[in-house]
Amino acid sequence: MGRREVCVRCGIMWGVSQLAKIPAGGYVCPWCREKELRESGRRRGRGKDGERR
Ligand SMILES: [Zn+2]
Repeated sequence: MGRREVCVRCGIMWGVSQLAKIPAGGYVCPWCREKELRESGRRRGRGKDGERR
């Protein structure tokens, strides 16, 4: 039994482990975290073609 946190990015309520640490800025779900990781690897000003691994 965990608790419920609303993701600050997508606004969806997620079940979160009680052991999970919620950052001061608010909970970010795994989806949004993954998305952010991908987007942070990309530079601003590039189009869709700029996506590289
Ligand atoms: Zn989210």
